[in-house]
Amino acid sequence: MEFASVNLRLKPGREKPVINRHPWIFSGAIDNLSDSNLDDGDLVNIVDHKGQWLALAYYNSKSQIAGRIISWRQSERIDRTFWKQRLYRAFSLRERLQLDIKTNAFRLVNGEADLLPGLVIDDYAGYLVVQCLSLGIDRRKDELFDILEELVEPIGIIERSDSRIRKQEGLSKVVGVRRGKEPPELLIIKENGIDLYVDLYRGHKTGLYLDQRENREIVCQNKYMAQRDILNVFSYTGGYTVNALNAGAKSVVNVESSSQMLDLCRSNLVLNGYNRPSEEFFQGDAFQVLRQFREENMQFDFIIMDPPKFAHSRSDVDAACRGYKDLNMIALQLLKEGGFLATFSCSGHISVSLFQKVLFGASIDAARDVQIIQQLGQASDHPILLSFPESAYLKGYLCQVI
Ligand code: SAH
Repeated sequence: MEFASVNLRLKPGREKPVINRHPWIFSGAIDNLSDSNLDDGDLVNIVDHKGQWLALAYYNSKSQIAGRIISWRQSERIDRTFWKQRLYRAFSLRERLQLDIKTNAFRLVNGEADLLPGLVIDDYAGYLVVQCLSLGIDRRKDELFDILEELVEPIGIIERSDSRIRKQEGLSKVVGVRRGKEPPELLIIKENGIDLYVDLYRGHKTGLYLDQRENREIVCQNKYMAQRDILNVFSYTGGYTVNALNAGAKSVVNVESSSQMLDLCRSNLVLNGYNRPSEEFFQGDAFQVLRQFREENMQFDFIIMDPPKFAHSRSDVDAACRGYKDLNMIALQLLKEGGFLATFSCSGHISVSLFQKVLFGASIDAARDVQIIQQLGQASDHPILLSFPESAYLKGYLCQVI
């Protein structure tokens, strides 16, 4: 059991977000600490300027997010039972969603949005892949691995603490098996009934873009794909591509900068019984490849565009918007009349309304009339906490050019 003996006093007027259950204390909001001997990673009491108790948090002087709140209950006991209850609550949501009927790769714990700040856990066919993204969690990870072993009985627990976010916490990158068995070099998982290879060590994030699972199902329906020519930009390991072919697509052109991921895309197609011609695979920078397609007057019936995060901080937003606008403008120009575009942004700093404005700008520059058919977001195992709007990061639109 952990105790907080030091008080972190907020500056006057900085208590409002804490009262409203936002889990982050920014360093600029701190007035003082009651004891300067507080170690990074220790539990601390958050108090308002008058000394009124507000919350319990993990402290990290090295991070701009100097406090990560783990409870707003003064009587909370931070012990093994606390962690078990928090984890169990996150697991029960996923059970309730009944994802496991046709999927065995999903997010079990979505950090702050599951009231577990800095902790991400994904389950890939019985292997848990854990990301420790805050110092507070990193310091307690061994206990968490023990609890996970007890609660989930996984085949193995792999730590993928190699996100760039760790640097901002003063943590280095660490990767390795922490409990149980080493996973195969390429693990086969099932998503929406489809087999896919996943590289749990070298794949992006924890292996797959699990947040796109429901969108892959919505977009890759027979009514949109059958007998159509599809362009999958930023295709990664081909999740959309396999789904599109299963839904009857005539062809799917893949554009991807990483040759390693493009190879894995080819392997995923073979795994699902598809042997596609080499003209359907373009390794290169999407901005250039799409321009080349435009010069060659190539036309598609459906374009899927899911770029990586362009805005890593608020100061990147303008440049990111220019990038999104440019890509979407060319995509709209590459569509046949009546064609569809499924376009995404996973930049948390770009809101849904800003993304819609960017698309509007792209449609004007492309001189095309565009209808929004459906708004898209992150899969249900990536819940959004209302008091933490930062947890809503993936947005998308299914559009038609008319
Ligand atoms: N839609 C995919 C995930 C896409 S992630 C899925 O459902 O699985 C973004 C991908 O874009 C990554 O694979 C990354 O390697 C690739 N990428 C990043 N920058 C790129 C660029 N400039 N041109 C082409 N691909 C790029």
